[in-house]
Amino acid sequence: MLRDAIRSLAEAKIAPYAAAVDEEARFPQEALDALVASDLHAVHVPEEYGGAGADALATVIVIEEVARACVSSSLIPAVNKLGSLPVILSGSEELKKKYLAPLAKGDGMFSYCLSEPDAGSDAAGMKTKAVRDGDFWILNGVKRWITNAGVSDYYTVMAVTDPSKRSKGISAFVVEKSDPGVSFGAPEKKLGIKGSPTREVYFDNVRIPADRMIGEEGTGFATAMATLDHTRITIAAQALGVAQGAFDYAKGYVQERKQFGKPIADFQGIQFMLADMAMKIEAARQLTYAAAAKSERGDSDLTFQGAAAKCFASDVAMEVTTDAVQLLGGYGYTRDYPVERMMRDAKITQIYEGTNQVQRIVMARNLP
Ligand SMILES: Cc1cc2nc3c(=O)[nH]c(=O)nc-3n(C[C@H](O)[C@H](O)[C@H](O)COP(=O)(O)OP(=O)(O)OC[C@H]3O[C@@H](n4cnc5c(N)ncnc54)[C@H](O)[C@@H]3O)c2cc1C
Repeated sequence: MLRDAIRSLAEAKIAPYAAAVDEEARFPQEALDALVASDLHAVHVPEEYGGAGADALATVIVIEEVARACVSSSLIPAVNKLGSLPVILSGSEELKKKYLAPLAKGDGMFSYCLSEPDAGSDAAGMKTKAVRDGDFWILNGVKRWITNAGVSDYYTVMAVTDPSKRSKGISAFVVEKSDPGVSFGAPEKKLGIKGSPTREVYFDNVRIPADRMIGEEGTGFATAMATLDHTRITIAAQALGVAQGAFDYAKGYVQERKQFGKPIADFQGIQFMLADMAMKIEAARQLTYAAAAKSERGDSDLTFQGAAAKCFASDVAMEVTTDAVQLLGGYGYTRDYPVERMMRDAKITQIYEGTNQVQRIVMARNLP
């Protein structure tokens, strides 16, 4: 039922704008409005804080179906979970009440600020600092590649509070867009997900109350990593969705397109490509859903499984979307058809929330 509901919504209210959002590199406001109206913009927020209380699998299905229509738009439910999960996992009751309620209502989105210009894969090498000043913390630094920066009202920010302790000297904070000293860089000009704003976030003597710290001092990096264990599965869901979208389009196309006097779908060479694409998508789906179940239960092998799902599904998304372009021939290479956009959008799933090389490091350190 959930899949049917989100698929109809995505086909009616998100897919029609996907090409324009990409072409104009503009925020998918239509998607945000449609998702908020149906209470699907941040489904993971627990009911006690006014949310829909969707479990990890339901959240994955929402993201998958939105990504099938428009990957840029799927960053709305995905990053709302990424940004707010540190609060859900480690925040005080006061922080949860204060920030999850407006998120659930659609009054403000959440972003996640871990990466910096010189700290990507090695996130613990961050330089953004927070210094205590009585009942306040003062933040200074630059975060890079922040999804929905400028659009979101709330930002989970990881910052160094004790430089002598590396990852154990990092703490997490909630920063508001309206806090004096917060500003944003120009939107990045990207290969894909052009509708999802990616900007730098600057902190210039941002003074925030001490109770905005998420969890204890020094636990921010652990919270950031625990968050990724759960949210990598949402990237797998995006990958799965875009692969499915490209497959569905290509499957329809090959039945219509005629060469040598018959539909190209009649050629075994084409049928084998479709069979391989469907097989890979199904394998990615099973791995992703199994990982979502582990996320919900908090299983001890979640770290391996989440990394495996993200890595596998994103590699599948890149292969399947590239094959979809191939199946449309020259037409697939043009912006008159959606598959080249899907191929460009798929690429990011191999890079963010840890590149696929980093996923392999994570898997190797947590082998079953
Ligand atoms: C569109 C977009 C949106 C993003 N959104 C967010 C966001 O909302 N919040 C956020 O915090 N971050 C975000 N990111 C950042 C993203 O997570 C990083 O780009 C990513 O982690 C890689 O870091 P980097 O770009 O610095 O690459 P680098 O770390 O410089 O890596 C360069 C290459 O080296 C490889 N490499 C690095 N170390 C190793 C190693 N030990 N072994 C083998 N290979 C290695 C990498 O895999 C990669 O191929 C986003 C990025 C993009 C592009």
